[in-house]
Amino acid sequence: AKNTHRGTAVFDPAGPAPESPAQLALVGELRAGLGRDELRLYVQPKADARTGEVVGVEALVRWQHPRHGLIMPDEFIPIAERNGLINALTAEVLDLAVTAAAGWAAAGNPVSIAVNLSARSLLGTDLAGEVDALLAARQLPAGLLTLELTESSMMTDPRGVAALLAQLNGMGVRLSIDDFGTGYSSLSTLRRLPLDEIKIDRSFVMGLEGNADDETIVRSVVDLGLNLGLHVVAEGVENERIWRILRQMGCTLIQGYYLSRPIPVGDFPGWLSHYRET
Ligand code: C2E
Ligand code: CA
Ligand code: CA
Ligand code: CA
Repeated sequence: AKNTHRGTAVFDPAGPAPESPAQLALVGELRAGLGRDELRLYVQPKADARTGEVVGVEALVRWQHPRHGLIMPDEFIPIAERNGLINALTAEVLDLAVTAAAGWAAAGNPVSIAVNLSARSLLGTDLAGEVDALLAARQLPAGLLTLELTESSMMTDPRGVAALLAQLNGMGVRLSIDDFGTGYSSLSTLRRLPLDEIKIDRSFVMGLEGNADDETIVRSVVDLGLNLGLHVVAEGVENERIWRILRQMGCTLIQGYYLSRPIPVGDFPGWLSHYRET
């Protein structure tokens, strides 16, 4: 298919459907906005489930649109993926995240940062080379960067993804499997790839109060992960009761509104010192 328009890719040939006029406008605005400081990095803390110590954050991007205000990732990440903008977006998010974590480490707070990767940003670029150069430029130890991938992102080209993950793991970057339990081939994936962490999808975590099936699932995933030597993170922890259940199950880290909502990255050092005081 012919997919170029004035020399710029508008439709990804692999994309499912053409965009609506409103979405098409967003595509152009996102393309212009990238590199113009319109992406805003928010971070959400993750704590040791036993001690409550904050050891890391997840980077969650928002788009400060000049007219529409703050747009959430569910609204623009899929558009970026379908229109050839996801690699530029991922590069910008990685730079913001690595720069922030390097600043915290330099100030005496070595807190790790996790960045979400779309399936489409795994292949077709030299991601490992870019990450390596970025870590060197910002002087962030590789062990303070975690990359979160979904199970489905490993399906398109399993061998290519496995090679990429081996490269990143060799550099010392930590690898996490996101939304665990919602995709396919979970078990073979865990055995095959050099993962460090499993994130249990919040749909299961939120069912911990009252849903016996969800409790069984979460307990099994925690046991499985721990037995494989992985860290297990529970996302979507909204109250203390759920935290307590997860702690009893042996879950490694918790993340969710109970600890904090995602906050602007610049607010994190202040949030952390306040958290440590209380
Ligand atoms: P995710 O990776 O599963 O991120 C967790 C989402 O759950 C975030 O939504 C977060 O704000 C929300 N959340 C956290 N704690 C709680 C809680 O206790 N209760 C509830 N109900 N929700 C909670 P957000 O920030 O809207 O991000 C949505 C999705 O967008 C993310 O899901 C991730 O898949 C994607 N995303 C975000 N930032 C990026 C990025 O930089 N790159 C890529 N490729 N995807 C991103
Ligand atoms: Ca995530
Ligand atoms: Ca590793
Ligand atoms: Ca999730």
